[in-house]
Amino acid sequence: MDDRPADGSPAQQPDTLDLVRCRAWIEAVVTAVGERKGELTELDAAIGDADHGTNLHRGFTAVRAALGGDFAPGTVGQLLVKVGMTLISSVGGASGPLYGSAFRAIGKQLATPEADADQFALALRSGLDAVRALGAAAAGDKTMVDALGPAVTAFDDAAGKRLGFADAARAAAHAAEDGAKATVPLQARKGRASYLGERSIGHQDPGATSTALIFTALADVFQ
Ligand code: ADP
Ligand code: MG
Repeated sequence: MDDRPADGSPAQQPDTLDLVRCRAWIEAVVTAVGERKGELTELDAAIGDADHGTNLHRGFTAVRAALGGDFAPGTVGQLLVKVGMTLISSVGGASGPLYGSAFRAIGKQLATPEADADQFALALRSGLDAVRALGAAAAGDKTMVDALGPAVTAFDDAAGKRLGFADAARAAAHAAEDGAKATVPLQARKGRASYLGERSIGHQDPGATSTALIFTALADVFQ
């Protein structure tokens, strides 16, 4: 994509999530899930039922199909609602409804063809609220919330400082990555891993790991 202004001044960073970049984001998630499904499933083998990579791969493969053909959304919101609905209907594990509700809630907030950093910050907050409403996990329960929560806060802070979409997305990706790593010493209090009690300590949460993957894919679109 060439975002250089016609007058020859230096290239500007794209500063909105438009439909092209939104599709590129989801396509990058599909690819990354495909590449890392083994790793995600291994993490789930340690503290769950060894299906997180498979679940997300099934879900995002269905998403790729749903976004193809004659699907022609007019807003990034419509596109992201479609992602959410597809995940809800195609993934059996807990992560399907959770991610599905998050994407759907994010999409519902974005009724314009493209979203700037402020709009997206608000939408992300709704996504986090949807995950919390459905899964009832708090920070520190060793779930995807431990990556999503810090990512939303980091995006919001960066947007508030007028750093632009690219830097906000990168800040969110780093925060999600740090949040995922910080789940290692935690004991799981929600989801399947909680059945293990203290034996869940010492392993990185699979859902927090895939959340970091999703934010990294977003940041990479703006590189
Ligand atoms: P399942 O646990 O049904 O096998 P997955 O393996 O696909 O589903 O997803 C597991 C991930 O889902 C966990 O690593 C955790 O991050 C997330 N998760 C599970 N339960 C909850 C919850 N109540 N709230 C938030 N996230 C949750
Ligand atoms: Mg599982």
